[in-house]
Amino acid sequence: MDAPGQLRDRFGRLHDNLRISVTDRCNIRCFYCMPEEVEFVPRPEILTFEEIEHFVRLAVRCGIRKLRITGGEPLLRRDLPVLVRKLSAIEGITDLGLTTNGILLREQAAALYEAGLRRINIHLDTLDAERFRHITRRDHLDRVLEGIELCRCLGFRPIKINAVAVKGLTEPDIVPLARFGREHDLEIRFIEFMPLDGQGLWLRDRVLFARDILRTLSREIAPLVPVSDGDPRAPAAEYRYADGRGVVGFIASVSQPFCDRCNRIRLTADGKLRYCLFALEETDIKKLLRGGAADEEILEAIGSTVRAKWEGHQVNTARFVAPPRPMYAIGG
Ligand code: SAM
Ligand code: SF4
Repeated sequence: MDAPGQLRDRFGRLHDNLRISVTDRCNIRCFYCMPEEVEFVPRPEILTFEEIEHFVRLAVRCGIRKLRITGGEPLLRRDLPVLVRKLSAIEGITDLGLTTNGILLREQAAALYEAGLRRINIHLDTLDAERFRHITRRDHLDRVLEGIELCRCLGFRPIKINAVAVKGLTEPDIVPLARFGREHDLEIRFIEFMPLDGQGLWLRDRVLFARDILRTLSREIAPLVPVSDGDPRAPAAEYRYADGRGVVGFIASVSQPFCDRCNRIRLTADGKLRYCLFALEETDIKKLLRGGAADEEILEAIGSTVRAKWEGHQVNTARFVAPPRPMYAIGG
């Protein structure tokens, strides 16, 4: 029997972390996430801020403590600071973060900071303008770099940089990004390319493994030693440079899955609750919210979603079936 106010699954994992996607739209087209032509969810199908806030208040009653706003590109959602203010004011929320591609930070970072946001993850795979264009099919590297600098000046902390690592493509970016991180007090997190691209482009041969990146950085920059006091349930394995200058993270979802310590659930922009990025089933929260369901019914839906959670994703097995939703439609 679960303790009241706790979301524990059949494998004993406690869930206190909710990722909320606020839109499936994006202003760039990273090839590993989104095709060039996309049919987005019609706006009326996207949860309103009031619906999101109502859901989060219920999720907090079940033990959710940490929130991350994501997308699609969350800064495309109009008035996002209003949502940030609402969510950061909810009693019981101890941690609120945002994951963004950084393109609109120039216009919005100050308002987000003012609304109470402090933790920000900015997506940047390369410092090379040509490769940025190749990966994102758009030409916005300068804007992202400006956004990072602005966040540093405004006082956002921590600022983490998400870099998707793709074999045969981003090897030349590893060392420059790591140096950039050391120089600007940013934690660069290398993320293994996952089969969530929606176009069937993923191949195991295209995954640049975390252990190979670690070896390169240790050789080219400085030896890396595991951080022993990090959050053991965080997806990134963190390493510190032995010379004391900075931390680097590795999200090795493919080569070293961390399902055994997963504490996350995800709410999609169109109101579906998922227990895993790769889940093949989801719970229709929007239907409950809009159908006038009692709070108890929604609480039960959250609990049963967590209880249905599988032991781990199947990416490394022959049984793996890619979820029908690509990354942008789930919320990474
Ligand atoms: N648009 C924002 C951004 O790019 O940060 C937030 C949403 S995006 C889906 C969240 C993160 O997912 C990105 O930072 C990117 O690093 C990661 N991502 C997207 N597609 C991926 C894939 N196929 N494999 C691994 N990571 C991926
Ligand atoms: Fe957009 Fe983020 Fe997906 Fe890139 S990874 S296409 S920025 S949602």
